[in-house]
Amino acid sequence: NKALLTALKGKETITADGRKIKLYANMGNVSDLAAVLQNDAEGIGLFRSEFLYLEKDRFPTEEEQFQIYKNVAETMAGKRVIIRTLDIGADKQADYFQLEKEENPAMGYRAIRICLEQPEIFKTQLRAIFRASAYGNISIMYPMIISKEEIKKIRQIVEEVKADLEELGVPYGKVEQGIMIETPAAAVISDELAKEVDFFSIGTNDLTQYTLAIDRQNAKLDVFYDAHHEAVLRLIEMTVANAHKAGIWAGICGELGADTELTERFVNMGIDELSVAPGCILPIRKIVREMDRA
Ligand code: PEP
Ligand code: MG
Repeated sequence: NKALLTALKGKETITADGRKIKLYANMGNVSDLAAVLQNDAEGIGLFRSEFLYLEKDRFPTEEEQFQIYKNVAETMAGKRVIIRTLDIGADKQADYFQLEKEENPAMGYRAIRICLEQPEIFKTQLRAIFRASAYGNISIMYPMIISKEEIKKIRQIVEEVKADLEELGVPYGKVEQGIMIETPAAAVISDELAKEVDFFSIGTNDLTQYTLAIDRQNAKLDVFYDAHHEAVLRLIEMTVANAHKAGIWAGICGELGADTELTERFVNMGIDELSVAPGCILPIRKIVREMDRA
């Protein structure tokens, strides 16, 4: 909508009573960057890095990844870019990973589980991200977390990567590290997890799938799929409250974050960030700016 664009571009995403929301964009490919800029995103809240792996028939090298992360960070010119580490497996398959066929891929060997079991793949990506962090405002988030132990293991690997870079004299910036809350386990223990990370980003696509036990790929189940199910909304609310208790921020990067019927409810819950498809940014900015909780 052209009129919306002219009226709301360059404006803050803030309620009439003064509460500011970070309104970021989701990105699944470098080609999305034009739309991200065009729609005036305040940052990138979910950079789905899998595409780098899916478009190739071999692992992308550290250098290839570095160039892309650096380019995105520089293009965003100081605005935050949250890179989600590799989330492959389940519906996203690449032959060269040689993943075994599984009975229940959504509940299988995927995402952070692959990264922790095959740390060389993980380290290559982390090195590329940390190197790129010298060229902009980069944050990292980790998908499919279920426990504090995973965060401890991640931290150990990150420390090794940073030590390597320091030894080589390669510069890197300050990088905030967060986790996705997209399993019911993570939401339920979000009070504990909040003490270990800099931010939460709620992945409602998977959180809904696992909470309702409804396969997000199975169209036959659409009739049972209630995107506004109270169980999911309560888990979101609880996660935000636990984040704030620990002094960190929480956002939503799943599709539900773009649901304009819920924008007011999310703002009232205290959500700090919404990361949505570029085309959803300005309509949400409009709703937030019209909200007055005073
Ligand atoms: C989610 O699960 O909500 C999410 C944002 O991640 P993806 O859709 O890439 O699984
Ligand atoms: Mg997910």
